[in-house]
Amino acid sequence: MKLSQMLFVTLREEPADAEVRSHALMARAGFIQKLAAGIYVYGPMMWRVLRKIENIVREEHDRAGCLELLMPAVQPRELWQESGRWDRYVQDGILFHFADRKGSEVCLGPTHEEVITTFVKRQIQSYKQMPVTFYQIQTKFRDEIRPRFGLMRGREFIMKDAYSFDPSAEAMKASYERMREVYRAIFRRCGLRFTPVEADSGAIGGSGSEEFMVDADTGEDAIAVCRESGYAANVEKAVSQIAPPPPAPEAIAMHKEPTPGAKSCEDLQRLFPDLPLERMLKTVLYKASFTEREEIVAVMARGDREINEVKLLNFLDALNVELADEQTVRQATGAEPGFAGPIGLADHVRLLADASVEGVQGFLCGGNETDTHYLDVWFDRDLPQPPSHDFGLVQDGDLSEDGQGRLSITRGIEVGHIFQLGTKYSEAMSAQFQDEDGKNKAIWMGCYGIGVSRVAASAIEQNHDANGMIWPLPIAPYSVLLVQMKAGNEDQDRVAQELYDQIQEAGVDVLWDDRVKVSPGAKFKDADLIGIPLRIVIGRDAKDRKVEWKPRVGETEVLTVEGALEKLKVALQEQNS
Ligand code: ATP
Ligand code: MG
Repeated sequence: MKLSQMLFVTLREEPADAEVRSHALMARAGFIQKLAAGIYVYGPMMWRVLRKIENIVREEHDRAGCLELLMPAVQPRELWQESGRWDRYVQDGILFHFADRKGSEVCLGPTHEEVITTFVKRQIQSYKQMPVTFYQIQTKFRDEIRPRFGLMRGREFIMKDAYSFDPSAEAMKASYERMREVYRAIFRRCGLRFTPVEADSGAIGGSGSEEFMVDADTGEDAIAVCRESGYAANVEKAVSQIAPPPPAPEAIAMHKEPTPGAKSCEDLQRLFPDLPLERMLKTVLYKASFTEREEIVAVMARGDREINEVKLLNFLDALNVELADEQTVRQATGAEPGFAGPIGLADHVRLLADASVEGVQGFLCGGNETDTHYLDVWFDRDLPQPPSHDFGLVQDGDLSEDGQGRLSITRGIEVGHIFQLGTKYSEAMSAQFQDEDGKNKAIWMGCYGIGVSRVAASAIEQNHDANGMIWPLPIAPYSVLLVQMKAGNEDQDRVAQELYDQIQEAGVDVLWDDRVKVSPGAKFKDADLIGIPLRIVIGRDAKDRKVEWKPRVGETEVLTVEGALEKLKVALQEQNS
């Protein structure tokens, strides 16, 4: 392709809403253009990148025996009611849904478990037809609360989603393991540095799940990693060892203390400098919503632990969990926010505790009275010990659960997510098969997603410099860029044409900057911006059939035309090995 024929337009200014480099650079280079919040046109260069990623995804799925199909984006409400997900997705606001002309509700697919389960249940009768895995590469729609970061969090985006079907839990696990290898191969081939982590299953449901995180400081996800034990988990899901309870003090009677204005543990530490943080128990109030009701939940935790709302949401099996507002706190505690405690809460409040409070005695807690706390409180003497579970949010430096090392918190971009779904959807939607023993059973499912457009953005988050993007060779819009300093110069024209022809003949995608009225300086700037990794510069030395080998990153070398072609061959081979 010749750049002069590409309607290549760059912007001088970065878009005002660009918070991350991938967004800013892609927009400036004309790779993407915003149409509405989270909705983008993929320009020709971007589309080439996306197609290359899709091809890698397709090849690896096909190699593993997965079957490609294409499902509709428009999905009827009835399917989502069958699976029981309509209400949660509508309540979350994530679902684009509307009524058709007959008044039937439909949605634009944010994911396809319902559709594939319907498809498969009409196809599969016997255990002999499994295992089977289907996949598609398709546009997904999610009305995200905060669409941002360009392609990273779109409202319309490209996803590869796959679904496995098996006759037993063991077989499902085997399919899941196979897919895990497929994912590793895909991200490796895309040239990304990534970490697979244990993950929360979220609204999709099911048991085991892992996310593939591209290592990047700008990632929206926090990951807890322990080098010693090899543990890696999304912070939403991560566990750590809870430090043992502090020794109990001498048992004296519980008493109320005035604590004017002391609403946080820091305030209380100033008031009671001798009381360890581990013997300060906080009580945090949440409003949990369910399909037809709300519940106020108070969660106790040790002063040195934060509460993980995802763990709480999962435990309650609620649609949503949020911090209670001021009025709710007043109704539940009779006090201003900051003084909630387990003793004397209103009857409608459900009291729970994080596992960290187990064994803590002689503690401080809120008094459910403004400017008041209780001191020297003992479980089983002054109040029953509330039911406790792990609701803890891990912190940097926490001891890993197996005690082998410390957790450190890093950041990543979730580019893939694999789930063992079990029989959640097949049971809800009666997708059954006849097993070897002649009995009808629910099909075991797995589901597997890759954010194709997010992969492209994350590659740039990981690989860029002050001058522009740096594409990993396998997913670059073009593998090679020929920069011709002076188009129209006879020697340069001849050498550039020769290189262009030879490279094309070798089946390699090449872009030729043959623009006439553009200065060499501007050409180099553009070349850096669009980030094609392999570059050959054709300049003054073309008269001696000499060119410059000038990769986007790395050493520059003056070579003969043949030498440059040889160099190119080696670079491409290295990439394939
Ligand atoms: P997130 O937690 O980032 O919202 P998710 O867990 O809801 O994502 P999944 O349902 O697991 O996403 O979707 C599979 C993959 O699709 C994700 O791993 C991610 O790469 C991609 N993806 C999800 N939401 C978006 C989005 N709004 N824009 C671009 N890609 C997305
Ligand atoms: Mg996910």
